[in-house]
Amino acid sequence: MVRVGVFGAGGRMGTEVCRAVVAEPGLELVAVVDPFHVGLDLGQVTGVDLHLSVAAGPEALLDAKVDVAVDFTQVEAARANLSWLAANGVHAVVGTTGFTDADLDGFARAFTRSNAVIAPNFAIGAVLMMRFAELAAPYFETAEIIELHHDLKVDAPSGTALATAERMAAASSAWADDPTTSVVVQGARGARTPGGITVHSVRLRGLVAHQEVLLGTTGQTLSIRHDSLDRSSFMPGVLLAVKKVGDRPGLTVGLDALLDL
Ligand code: NAP
Repeated sequence: MVRVGVFGAGGRMGTEVCRAVVAEPGLELVAVVDPFHVGLDLGQVTGVDLHLSVAAGPEALLDAKVDVAVDFTQVEAARANLSWLAANGVHAVVGTTGFTDADLDGFARAFTRSNAVIAPNFAIGAVLMMRFAELAAPYFETAEIIELHHDLKVDAPSGTALATAERMAAASSAWADDPTTSVVVQGARGARTPGGITVHSVRLRGLVAHQEVLLGTTGQTLSIRHDSLDRSSFMPGVLLAVKKVGDRPGLTVGLDALLDL
């Protein structure tokens, strides 16, 4: 039995993770942390049918002898949680977005006693979308990414969009220059990522998580689109990472390696 702890258990993703872990054979949910729901019963907070008191901080994971902790919180909280997990030898599965390259370098150095899997997107379709975009990149000179999310998302652009742009930029250096010479309204051309690919972020009530990668060359375009219609779409990837993180020394970024892509 893998003993699992969940940070941010009262959040949208945290709640879904608790539900998925409780329903999964071979996994046991033994600790939940959320500083904003301290002392409440997990059932009250999430509707999950398990009596566990929500703890204020990560020390509860040690008391519960957690093997793997899952973090879907906010980037500042996740930085602190990951440092604590690395220092205390607990494996980490992290979906929180907004980390910088410097953060990832720091995590790679810190995780020596235990392992971490950090993925900007745990949905298999999104992982494939990123791979397909990377494969297509060398055959097109222009590309733009439109990411669309629910109206409560706090960071922009999404971690998936940034990761996609970085991978496409690494796969080709032959991108055409932006032809725009006059920007009438600031932001009209979106955000230019370091590799030169433009990202547009849409925030709309009713959406979950969606992304379209548009590629164009003479006389043709290719659109690659993925839609997460429900947060359950992320759970097979999260559960896979929880089961495999113990076998992957150090830091693993992205689900690709776990899926043999
Ligand atoms: P959310 O509903 O705001 O959930 C975040 C939760 O973390 C909240 O319950 C928050 O409490 C709690 N929290 C804040 N500080 C904490 C701390 N120090 N320790 C423990 N818990 C803490 O957000 P969400 O929609 O679930 O998204 C969470 C993160 O997952 C975001 O970064 C999002 O981009 C990412 N995400 C990733 C994927 C993926 O596949 N990788 C998919 C979807 C979302 P309060 O609400 O009281 O502040």
